[in-house]
Amino acid sequence: MSLIYTPEEEAFRAEVRTFLQNEYPEEVKEVIRAGKRPNREQMIAGQKALAKGGYAAPKWPVEWGGKDWTPMQSFIFSDEVLENDIAPTNGFGIGLLAPVITEFATQEQKERFLPAIYNADQYWCQGFSEPEAGSDLASLRTRAVRDGDNYIVNGQKMWTTEAHHADWIFMLVRTDPNAPKRQMGISFLLIDMKTPGVSVRKIRLMDGEHEVNEVFFDNVVVPAENLIGEENKGWTYAKFLLGNERGGMSNAKPFWRRLAVAKKEAAKVQLENGTLMDDILFRARLAELETKITAFEETALRLKGTSADGAPNPGGSVIKLRGTELMQELTALLIDVAGPNARVFENDGLSGVEAWQSATVHTYLNTRKVTIFGGSSEVQRSIIASAILGL
Ligand SMILES: Cc1cc2nc3c(=O)[nH]c(=O)nc-3n(C[C@H](O)[C@H](O)[C@H](O)COP(=O)(O)OP(=O)(O)OC[C@H]3O[C@@H](n4cnc5c(N)ncnc54)[C@H](O)[C@@H]3O)c2cc1C
Repeated sequence: MSLIYTPEEEAFRAEVRTFLQNEYPEEVKEVIRAGKRPNREQMIAGQKALAKGGYAAPKWPVEWGGKDWTPMQSFIFSDEVLENDIAPTNGFGIGLLAPVITEFATQEQKERFLPAIYNADQYWCQGFSEPEAGSDLASLRTRAVRDGDNYIVNGQKMWTTEAHHADWIFMLVRTDPNAPKRQMGISFLLIDMKTPGVSVRKIRLMDGEHEVNEVFFDNVVVPAENLIGEENKGWTYAKFLLGNERGGMSNAKPFWRRLAVAKKEAAKVQLENGTLMDDILFRARLAELETKITAFEETALRLKGTSADGAPNPGGSVIKLRGTELMQELTALLIDVAGPNARVFENDGLSGVEAWQSATVHTYLNTRKVTIFGGSSEVQRSIIASAILGL
Protein backbone atom coordinates (compact mmCIF):
# COMPACT_ATOMS: atom_id res chain seq x y z
CA MET A 1 0.00 0.00 0.00
CA SER A 2 1.35 3.46 -0.81
CA LEU A 3 0.62 6.41 1.44
CA ILE A 4 1.27 10.06 0.73
CA TYR A 5 3.00 11.71 3.66
CA THR A 6 2.95 15.44 4.40
CA PRO A 7 6.30 17.29 4.54
CA GLU A 8 5.91 17.44 8.34
CA GLU A 9 5.45 13.70 8.50
CA GLU A 10 8.50 13.16 6.30
CA ALA A 11 10.52 15.43 8.61
CA PHE A 12 9.26 13.48 11.60
CA ARG A 13 10.32 10.22 9.98
CA ALA A 14 13.79 11.61 9.30
CA GLU A 15 14.18 12.73 12.92
CA VAL A 16 13.14 9.32 14.30
CA ARG A 17 15.32 7.48 11.80
CA THR A 18 18.39 9.54 12.65
CA PHE A 19 17.92 8.75 16.32
CA LEU A 20 17.37 5.02 15.79
CA GLN A 21 20.31 4.75 13.40
CA ASN A 22 22.77 6.60 15.62
CA GLU A 23 21.72 6.19 19.23
CA TYR A 24 20.57 2.58 19.51
CA PRO A 25 23.02 -0.23 20.43
CA GLU A 26 24.27 -1.95 17.29
CA GLU A 27 24.75 -5.33 19.06
CA VAL A 28 21.01 -5.46 19.82
CA LYS A 29 20.16 -4.64 16.20
CA GLU A 30 22.39 -7.52 15.10
CA VAL A 31 20.40 -9.96 17.24
CA ILE A 32 17.14 -8.77 15.69
CA ARG A 33 18.62 -8.86 12.19
CA ALA A 34 19.63 -12.48 12.76
CA GLY A 35 16.02 -13.33 13.68
CA LYS A 36 17.01 -14.26 17.24
CA ARG A 37 15.41 -13.40 20.57
CA PRO A 38 17.34 -10.74 22.48
CA ASN A 39 18.24 -11.78 26.02
CA ARG A 40 17.29 -9.80 29.12
CA GLU A 41 20.47 -7.68 29.09
CA GLN A 42 20.05 -6.82 25.42
CA MET A 43 16.38 -5.94 25.85
CA ILE A 44 17.24 -3.69 28.77
CA ALA A 45 20.13 -2.02 26.92
CA GLY A 46 17.85 -1.35 23.96
CA GLN A 47 15.04 0.04 26.07
CA LYS A 48 17.41 2.24 28.04
CA ALA A 49 18.69 3.75 24.78
CA LEU A 50 15.11 4.49 23.69
CA ALA A 51 14.32 5.94 27.12
CA LYS A 52 17.31 8.26 26.89
CA GLY A 53 15.93 9.70 23.66
CA GLY A 54 12.39 9.88 25.07
CA TYR A 55 11.11 7.14 22.76
CA ALA A 56 10.53 4.22 25.17
CA ALA A 57 6.77 4.61 25.55
CA PRO A 58 5.22 6.98 22.99
CA LYS A 59 1.68 5.87 23.82
CA TRP A 60 1.91 6.89 27.48
CA PRO A 61 0.51 10.19 28.72
CA VAL A 62 2.96 13.01 28.04
CA GLU A 63 3.49 13.76 31.76
CA TRP A 64 5.00 10.28 32.19
CA GLY A 65 7.20 10.36 29.10
CA GLY A 66 4.69 9.65 26.33
CA LYS A 67 4.36 11.56 23.08
CA ASP A 68 1.45 13.61 21.92
CA TRP A 69 1.73 12.16 18.44
CA THR A 70 -0.95 11.92 15.78
CA PRO A 71 -2.00 8.38 14.79
CA MET A 72 0.09 8.81 11.63
CA GLN A 73 3.19 9.79 13.62
CA SER A 74 2.71 6.70 15.81
CA PHE A 75 2.45 4.62 12.67
CA ILE A 76 5.63 6.14 11.22
CA PHE A 77 7.48 5.53 14.49
CA SER A 78 6.54 1.84 14.64
CA ASP A 79 7.44 1.57 10.97
CA GLU A 80 10.92 2.95 11.65
CA VAL A 81 11.32 0.69 14.68
CA LEU A 82 10.80 -2.33 12.42
CA GLU A 83 12.86 -0.88 9.58
CA ASN A 84 15.85 -0.27 11.86
CA ASP A 85 15.83 -3.67 13.62
CA ILE A 86 14.92 -2.28 17.03
CA ALA A 87 14.16 -4.88 19.73
CA PRO A 88 10.78 -4.77 21.41
CA THR A 89 10.63 -3.01 24.76
CA ASN A 90 9.41 -4.94 27.82
CA GLY A 91 5.84 -5.07 26.55
CA PHE A 92 4.39 -6.45 29.76
CA GLY A 93 5.54 -3.34 31.63
CA ILE A 94 5.28 -0.65 28.97
CA GLY A 95 2.36 -1.86 26.88
CA LEU A 96 0.17 -3.73 29.35
CA LEU A 97 0.76 -2.72 32.96
CA ALA A 98 1.56 0.98 32.57
CA PRO A 99 -1.81 1.91 30.99
CA VAL A 100 -3.54 0.22 33.95
CA ILE A 101 -1.36 2.17 36.37
CA THR A 102 -1.93 5.51 34.66
CA GLU A 103 -5.68 4.88 34.58
CA PHE A 104 -6.38 3.24 37.95
CA ALA A 105 -3.41 3.54 40.35
CA THR A 106 -2.71 6.13 43.06
CA GLN A 107 -0.32 9.01 42.44
CA GLU A 108 2.18 7.35 44.78
CA GLN A 109 2.05 4.10 42.78
CA LYS A 110 2.45 6.03 39.53
CA GLU A 111 5.59 7.71 40.85
CA ARG A 112 6.92 4.45 42.20
CA PHE A 113 6.42 2.31 39.12
CA LEU A 114 6.10 4.34 35.91
CA PRO A 115 9.64 5.81 35.78
CA ALA A 116 11.12 2.40 36.68
CA ILE A 117 9.13 0.72 33.90
CA TYR A 118 10.05 3.44 31.40
CA ASN A 119 13.77 3.26 32.15
CA ALA A 120 13.87 -0.56 32.14
CA ASP A 121 14.87 -0.63 35.81
CA GLN A 122 12.04 -3.12 36.36
CA TYR A 123 11.44 -6.01 33.97
CA TRP A 124 7.84 -7.27 34.20
CA CYS A 125 5.83 -10.40 33.43
CA GLN A 126 2.09 -11.12 33.38
CA GLY A 127 0.49 -13.57 35.83
CA PHE A 128 -3.07 -14.05 34.62
CA SER A 129 -3.42 -17.64 33.33
CA GLU A 130 -3.53 -20.66 35.62
CA PRO A 131 -3.72 -24.41 35.01
CA GLU A 132 -7.53 -24.27 35.15
CA ALA A 133 -7.99 -20.70 34.00
CA GLY A 134 -7.08 -19.58 30.47
CA SER A 135 -9.93 -18.57 28.17
CA ASP A 136 -12.17 -18.81 31.21
CA LEU A 137 -9.91 -16.46 33.15
CA ALA A 138 -12.52 -15.62 35.78
CA SER A 139 -12.17 -19.13 37.21
CA LEU A 140 -8.67 -18.32 38.51
CA ARG A 141 -7.93 -19.62 42.00
CA THR A 142 -4.66 -18.08 43.19
CA ARG A 143 -5.70 -16.76 46.58
CA ALA A 144 -4.69 -13.49 48.30
CA VAL A 145 -5.85 -13.18 51.90
CA ARG A 146 -5.60 -9.84 53.67
CA ASP A 147 -3.49 -10.00 56.83
CA GLY A 148 -2.97 -6.56 58.39
CA ASP A 149 -0.93 -4.44 56.00
CA ASN A 150 -0.19 -7.41 53.75
CA TYR A 151 -1.75 -10.01 51.50
CA ILE A 152 -0.70 -13.64 51.83
CA VAL A 153 -0.65 -15.18 48.35
CA ASN A 154 -0.90 -18.90 47.57
CA GLY A 155 -1.42 -20.59 44.22
CA GLN A 156 0.04 -21.13 40.76
CA LYS A 157 0.29 -19.21 37.51
CA MET A 158 0.85 -20.93 34.17
CA TRP A 159 2.43 -20.05 30.81
CA THR A 160 4.08 -16.99 32.35
CA THR A 161 6.25 -15.57 29.56
CA GLU A 162 9.64 -14.25 30.71
CA ALA A 163 8.99 -15.05 34.39
CA HIS A 164 12.55 -16.42 34.55
CA HIS A 165 13.85 -12.96 33.60
CA ALA A 166 11.35 -10.79 35.41
CA ASP A 167 11.88 -8.60 38.47
CA TRP A 168 8.14 -8.11 39.01
CA ILE A 169 4.88 -9.81 38.11
CA PHE A 170 1.43 -8.25 37.82
CA MET A 171 -1.21 -10.71 38.94
CA LEU A 172 -4.89 -11.40 39.08
CA VAL A 173 -5.67 -12.98 42.46
CA ARG A 174 -8.85 -14.10 44.16
CA THR A 175 -9.57 -11.94 47.18
CA ASP A 176 -13.23 -12.88 47.68
CA PRO A 177 -14.07 -16.52 46.97
CA ASN A 178 -17.69 -15.92 48.06
CA ALA A 179 -18.48 -13.03 45.69
CA PRO A 180 -21.88 -13.45 43.98
CA LYS A 181 -20.15 -13.48 40.58
CA ARG A 182 -16.65 -14.95 40.05
CA GLN A 183 -15.54 -11.72 38.34
CA MET A 184 -16.40 -9.72 41.45
CA GLY A 185 -13.90 -11.47 43.74
CA ILE A 186 -10.71 -10.76 41.78
CA SER A 187 -8.00 -8.16 42.53
CA PHE A 188 -4.96 -6.81 40.65
CA LEU A 189 -1.74 -7.17 42.64
CA LEU A 190 1.93 -6.40 41.93
CA ILE A 191 4.51 -8.81 43.33
CA ASP A 192 8.29 -8.53 43.52
CA MET A 193 9.63 -11.81 42.10
CA LYS A 194 12.39 -11.85 44.75
CA THR A 195 9.84 -12.18 47.58
CA PRO A 196 10.37 -15.41 49.58
CA GLY A 197 7.90 -18.11 48.49
CA VAL A 198 7.93 -17.21 44.76
CA SER A 199 9.43 -19.94 42.58
CA VAL A 200 9.68 -20.38 38.82
CA ARG A 201 9.72 -23.65 36.87
CA LYS A 202 10.47 -23.63 33.17
CA ILE A 203 8.26 -25.03 30.41
CA ARG A 204 9.96 -25.92 27.15
CA LEU A 205 7.90 -25.13 24.07
CA MET A 206 7.69 -27.40 21.02
CA ASP A 207 10.33 -25.37 19.17
CA GLY A 208 12.74 -26.19 22.00
CA GLU A 209 12.81 -22.66 23.41
CA HIS A 210 12.43 -21.59 27.02
CA GLU A 211 10.01 -18.67 26.92
CA VAL A 212 7.28 -19.60 29.35
CA ASN A 213 7.10 -20.86 32.91
CA GLU A 214 4.97 -22.00 35.78
CA VAL A 215 5.16 -19.65 38.77
CA PHE A 216 4.33 -20.89 42.25
CA PHE A 217 3.32 -18.79 45.27
CA ASP A 218 3.76 -20.34 48.68
CA ASN A 219 2.67 -18.04 51.52
CA VAL A 220 4.09 -15.01 49.73
CA VAL A 221 3.78 -11.85 51.82
CA VAL A 222 2.83 -8.89 49.61
CA PRO A 223 2.41 -5.35 50.98
CA ALA A 224 -1.19 -4.17 50.55
CA GLU A 225 0.18 -0.97 49.03
CA ASN A 226 0.91 -3.12 45.92
CA LEU A 227 -2.81 -3.49 45.22
CA ILE A 228 -3.89 -1.55 42.13
CA GLY A 229 -7.24 0.21 42.38
CA GLU A 230 -9.90 -1.25 44.62
CA GLU A 231 -9.95 -4.71 46.12
CA ASN A 232 -12.28 -7.03 44.14
CA LYS A 233 -12.35 -4.66 41.14
CA GLY A 234 -9.43 -6.38 39.37
CA TRP A 235 -11.63 -7.76 36.61
CA THR A 236 -12.35 -4.24 35.37
CA TYR A 237 -8.63 -3.49 35.16
CA ALA A 238 -7.92 -6.86 33.51
CA LYS A 239 -10.49 -6.20 30.77
CA PHE A 240 -8.91 -2.81 30.15
CA LEU A 241 -5.47 -4.43 29.92
CA LEU A 242 -6.57 -7.22 27.58
CA GLY A 243 -8.17 -4.68 25.21
CA ASN A 244 -4.78 -3.01 24.89
CA GLU A 245 -2.99 -6.36 24.44
CA ARG A 246 -5.18 -7.34 21.50
CA GLY A 247 -4.78 -4.12 19.53
CA GLY A 248 -1.00 -4.13 20.00
CA MET A 249 0.23 -5.93 16.89
CA SER A 250 -1.02 -3.72 14.12
CA ASN A 251 1.97 -3.07 11.86
CA ALA A 252 2.02 -5.03 8.61
CA LYS A 253 5.71 -4.51 7.90
CA PRO A 254 6.81 -7.94 9.26
CA PHE A 255 4.28 -9.54 6.92
CA TRP A 256 5.55 -7.63 3.87
CA ARG A 257 9.10 -8.55 4.79
CA ARG A 258 8.33 -12.27 5.02
CA LEU A 259 6.45 -12.12 1.74
CA ALA A 260 9.42 -10.38 0.07
CA VAL A 261 11.77 -13.14 1.30
CA ALA A 262 9.37 -15.78 -0.03
CA LYS A 263 9.30 -14.11 -3.46
CA LYS A 264 13.06 -13.62 -3.64
CA GLU A 265 13.81 -17.19 -2.64
CA ALA A 266 11.04 -18.70 -4.79
CA ALA A 267 12.65 -17.11 -7.82
CA LYS A 268 15.73 -19.27 -7.11
CA VAL A 269 13.83 -22.57 -6.84
CA GLN A 270 14.12 -24.38 -10.19
CA LEU A 271 11.15 -26.42 -11.36
CA GLU A 272 10.69 -28.29 -14.61
CA ASN A 273 9.25 -25.28 -16.45
CA GLY A 274 10.89 -22.27 -14.85
CA THR A 275 11.11 -21.29 -11.20
CA LEU A 276 8.62 -21.52 -8.36
CA MET A 277 7.76 -17.87 -9.03
CA ASP A 278 6.46 -18.91 -12.46
CA ASP A 279 4.12 -21.49 -10.97
CA ILE A 280 0.55 -20.31 -11.41
CA LEU A 281 -0.74 -21.85 -8.20
CA PHE A 282 2.11 -20.38 -6.19
CA ARG A 283 1.46 -16.97 -7.71
CA ALA A 284 -2.21 -17.24 -6.83
CA ARG A 285 -1.22 -18.00 -3.23
CA LEU A 286 1.04 -14.93 -3.17
CA ALA A 287 -1.72 -12.74 -4.61
CA GLU A 288 -4.17 -13.94 -1.98
CA LEU A 289 -1.67 -13.20 0.78
CA GLU A 290 -0.92 -9.74 -0.63
CA THR A 291 -4.62 -8.97 -0.65
CA LYS A 292 -5.02 -10.13 2.94
CA ILE A 293 -2.01 -8.13 4.14
CA THR A 294 -3.25 -5.00 2.38
CA ALA A 295 -6.70 -5.40 3.94
CA PHE A 296 -5.08 -5.96 7.35
CA GLU A 297 -2.89 -2.88 6.97
CA GLU A 298 -5.76 -0.61 5.98
CA THR A 299 -7.99 -1.94 8.76
CA ALA A 300 -5.23 -1.38 11.31
CA LEU A 301 -4.74 2.20 10.11
CA ARG A 302 -8.47 2.85 10.21
CA LEU A 303 -8.61 1.54 13.77
CA LYS A 304 -5.69 3.73 14.82
CA GLY A 305 -7.60 6.69 13.48
CA THR A 306 -10.63 5.86 15.63
CA SER A 307 -8.77 5.17 18.88
CA ALA A 308 -7.44 8.64 19.56
CA ASP A 309 -8.85 8.78 23.11
CA GLY A 310 -6.64 5.83 24.05
CA ALA A 311 -9.57 3.64 25.11
CA PRO A 312 -9.27 -0.03 24.12
CA ASN A 313 -11.26 -0.70 20.98
CA PRO A 314 -13.02 -4.06 20.39
CA GLY A 315 -11.56 -3.73 16.88
CA GLY A 316 -8.35 -4.90 18.57
CA SER A 317 -9.85 -8.39 18.37
CA VAL A 318 -10.05 -8.10 14.56
CA ILE A 319 -6.39 -7.09 14.47
CA LYS A 320 -5.35 -9.89 16.83
CA LEU A 321 -7.31 -12.53 14.93
CA ARG A 322 -6.28 -11.51 11.42
CA GLY A 323 -2.70 -10.56 12.29
CA THR A 324 -1.95 -13.85 14.02
CA GLU A 325 -3.52 -15.88 11.22
CA LEU A 326 -1.44 -14.02 8.66
CA MET A 327 1.70 -14.56 10.69
CA GLN A 328 1.06 -18.30 10.68
CA GLU A 329 0.22 -18.42 6.97
CA LEU A 330 3.49 -16.68 6.14
CA THR A 331 5.58 -19.07 8.25
CA ALA A 332 3.92 -21.97 6.40
CA LEU A 333 4.65 -20.30 3.04
CA LEU A 334 8.35 -20.00 3.88
CA ILE A 335 8.57 -23.69 4.78
CA ASP A 336 7.12 -24.55 1.38
CA VAL A 337 9.63 -22.27 -0.37
CA ALA A 338 12.52 -23.78 1.59
CA GLY A 339 11.31 -27.22 0.48
CA PRO A 340 13.29 -30.25 1.72
CA ASN A 341 15.92 -27.96 3.27
CA ALA A 342 13.36 -26.87 5.86
CA ARG A 343 13.85 -30.30 7.45
CA VAL A 344 17.34 -29.32 8.64
CA PHE A 345 16.07 -28.07 11.96
CA GLU A 346 19.48 -27.67 13.60
CA ASN A 347 21.78 -26.14 11.00
CA ASP A 348 25.26 -27.64 11.41
CA GLY A 349 26.67 -25.42 8.69
CA LEU A 350 27.83 -28.52 6.79
CA SER A 351 24.73 -29.46 4.86
CA GLY A 352 24.69 -26.54 2.44
CA VAL A 353 21.41 -25.40 3.91
CA GLU A 354 20.95 -21.65 4.29
CA ALA A 355 20.23 -20.13 7.70
CA TRP A 356 16.80 -18.82 6.66
CA GLN A 357 15.82 -22.29 5.43
CA SER A 358 16.69 -24.08 8.65
CA ALA A 359 14.94 -21.35 10.66
CA THR A 360 11.60 -21.89 8.91
CA VAL A 361 10.33 -24.87 10.90
CA HIS A 362 11.58 -23.33 14.14
CA THR A 363 9.64 -20.13 13.42
CA TYR A 364 6.60 -22.06 12.26
CA LEU A 365 6.48 -24.04 15.50
CA ASN A 366 7.10 -20.99 17.67
CA THR A 367 4.35 -19.08 15.89
CA ARG A 368 1.69 -21.66 16.83
CA LYS A 369 1.39 -19.76 20.09
CA VAL A 370 0.13 -16.50 18.60
CA THR A 371 -3.42 -17.73 18.02
CA ILE A 372 -3.55 -18.92 21.65
CA PHE A 373 -2.06 -16.21 23.86
CA GLY A 374 -3.69 -12.86 24.51
CA GLY A 375 -7.02 -14.66 24.01
CA SER A 376 -7.37 -17.52 21.52
CA SER A 377 -8.84 -17.04 18.04
CA GLU A 378 -12.13 -18.60 19.16
CA VAL A 379 -12.34 -16.07 22.00
CA GLN A 380 -11.59 -13.18 19.60
CA ARG A 381 -14.37 -14.38 17.29
CA SER A 382 -16.80 -14.37 20.21
CA ILE A 383 -15.80 -10.79 21.09
CA ILE A 384 -16.21 -9.67 17.47
CA ALA A 385 -19.60 -11.37 17.31
CA SER A 386 -20.93 -9.72 20.45
CA ALA A 387 -19.10 -6.37 20.72
CA ILE A 388 -18.85 -5.43 17.03
CA LEU A 389 -21.54 -7.37 15.17
CA GLY A 390 -24.04 -7.24 18.04
CA LEU A 391 -24.93 -10.93 17.64
C1 LIG B 1 3.45 -19.29 24.40
C2 LIG B 1 2.41 -18.79 25.36
C3 LIG B 1 2.68 -17.70 26.16
C4 LIG B 1 1.77 -17.26 27.10
N1 LIG B 1 2.11 -16.22 27.94
C5 LIG B 1 1.26 -15.88 28.93
C6 LIG B 1 1.65 -14.91 29.90
O1 LIG B 1 2.75 -14.33 29.84
N2 LIG B 1 0.80 -14.63 30.91
C7 LIG B 1 -0.42 -15.22 31.02
O2 LIG B 1 -1.15 -14.90 31.96
N3 LIG B 1 -0.83 -16.16 30.12
C8 LIG B 1 -0.01 -16.50 29.10
N4 LIG B 1 -0.38 -17.46 28.18
C9 LIG B 1 -1.64 -18.14 28.39
C10 LIG B 1 -2.70 -17.85 27.36
O3 LIG B 1 -3.30 -16.59 27.59
C11 LIG B 1 -3.71 -19.00 27.44
O4 LIG B 1 -3.05 -20.16 26.97
C12 LIG B 1 -4.94 -18.73 26.64
O5 LIG B 1 -5.72 -17.75 27.24
C13 LIG B 1 -5.79 -20.02 26.44
O6 LIG B 1 -6.03 -20.62 27.67
P1 LIG B 1 -5.74 -22.16 27.91
O7 LIG B 1 -4.35 -22.46 27.48
O8 LIG B 1 -6.09 -22.47 29.31
O9 LIG B 1 -6.70 -22.94 26.93
P2 LIG B 1 -8.26 -23.18 27.12
O10 LIG B 1 -8.90 -21.95 27.63
O11 LIG B 1 -8.43 -24.43 27.93
O12 LIG B 1 -8.72 -23.41 25.64
C14 LIG B 1 -8.53 -24.65 24.97
C15 LIG B 1 -9.20 -24.54 23.60
O13 LIG B 1 -10.62 -24.34 23.76
C16 LIG B 1 -11.04 -23.16 23.07
N5 LIG B 1 -12.06 -22.46 23.84
C17 LIG B 1 -12.01 -22.16 25.17
N6 LIG B 1 -13.10 -21.48 25.53
C18 LIG B 1 -13.86 -21.32 24.42
C19 LIG B 1 -15.11 -20.69 24.16
N7 LIG B 1 -15.79 -20.07 25.11
N8 LIG B 1 -15.59 -20.73 22.89
C20 LIG B 1 -14.92 -21.37 21.91
N9 LIG B 1 -13.73 -21.99 22.11
C21 LIG B 1 -13.20 -21.97 23.34
C22 LIG B 1 -9.79 -22.30 22.96
O14 LIG B 1 -9.88 -21.41 21.87
C23 LIG B 1 -8.70 -23.34 22.77
O15 LIG B 1 -8.65 -23.73 21.42
C24 LIG B 1 0.52 -17.90 27.21
C25 LIG B 1 0.22 -18.99 26.36
C26 LIG B 1 1.14 -19.43 25.45
C27 LIG B 1 0.80 -20.61 24.59
